[in-house]
Amino acid sequence: MSELRVAVVEQPGAPPVIRLLDRPLLPAGSALVTVLACALDAEDARLLASAAPLVPGRHFVGAIDSLGSGLTEDATGNRLRPGTPVLVPSVIPCGTCALCRQPPRHATGCLSPLRLGADAGPAGLSGGLADAVFVPRGAIHALPLTLPPWLATLAEPLATCLRAFGRAQEIGRFPPGSSVVVTGHDATALLAVVVARELGAGQILMIGGPDTPFLRLARRFGAEATIDTTEVTDPAERIAIVRETIGGRGADLALVRDASGSDALAMLREGGTLVTMGADGPDPAPWSMVRDRSLTILGAEGFSPAEIPVALGMIYRARTRIDFADMHARFPFTAAGMTSALGALNAGETPRALIVQRPDLAG
Ligand SMILES: [Zn+2]
Repeated sequence: MSELRVAVVEQPGAPPVIRLLDRPLLPAGSALVTVLACALDAEDARLLASAAPLVPGRHFVGAIDSLGSGLTEDATGNRLRPGTPVLVPSVIPCGTCALCRQPPRHATGCLSPLRLGADAGPAGLSGGLADAVFVPRGAIHALPLTLPPWLATLAEPLATCLRAFGRAQEIGRFPPGSSVVVTGHDATALLAVVVARELGAGQILMIGGPDTPFLRLARRFGAEATIDTTEVTDPAERIAIVRETIGGRGADLALVRDASGSDALAMLREGGTLVTMGADGPDPAPWSMVRDRSLTILGAEGFSPAEIPVALGMIYRARTRIDFADMHARFPFTAAGMTSALGALNAGETPRALIVQRPDLAG
């Protein structure tokens, strides 16, 4: 292909249109990555409605098309060559700011990262809804040849879940067998159920909705019980159900992916821990409850490049037990395909829409 197709959102809320771009010249240290598939989730749908011009697509998987001079290895020293299947994290640190030079232990770092598929700006090959993505610098992860490439689109959201549980683990608040409540309505909340199970949680409860597809998937992915917030609308009733289901005393750990943090605190046992990993809307914390019941609140945002290989390893090991395909609907990389994908996401029909550029290679 001499010209590359790229989907551009030219006005906030407008449907992506396909444009043709010339192949870029590659500066030293950069790469051009052929996109095999790109997953869209609810957050992408929100970005599309608010930012422009934009090439959507944060979670894509690809294969090396060509490499700028000096780029020969991936982030962990594996050889890169044309054809190597790769994952490129969507957040590319600048490499030079104060936080890049001295990364804080718990925070995502970088004061001015480049965000593939998310930054409004000159709409070049800067997102996964394209034939190829230009990667100017930063981490590239070669994929094990035994991993069906499309599964790697899950690595980034799964890495954010790993970070959230890791925050509790490192202070001894998530030992094996811990009971876990997950609240949320999106693909990342579902992955939190998977990660809880893979990390050795005991009872896992998910609170969200609607039942189809979300809670049904959560039960298949390892949640012992689910509470549908569209049916059990009284928070007090939800709190009572959780406390009763988990031995009458409440959960050891709550992982909060939505704006229900104060309700989730009330679902914890005495001395329990809450990790918030993204919330919509104001949610005043009931400080007296935190004090009186000796609760711990932790914040977790984003992921670090080092967490991506760990996430890929977990996806690889879990793929025979968890049918990740069930949380995806597939669409072709055409204007009609993308319109259908966004319609399915906005209607809540699927947690993720997988746009497949290369059905022959995506797996
Ligand atoms: Zn930086």
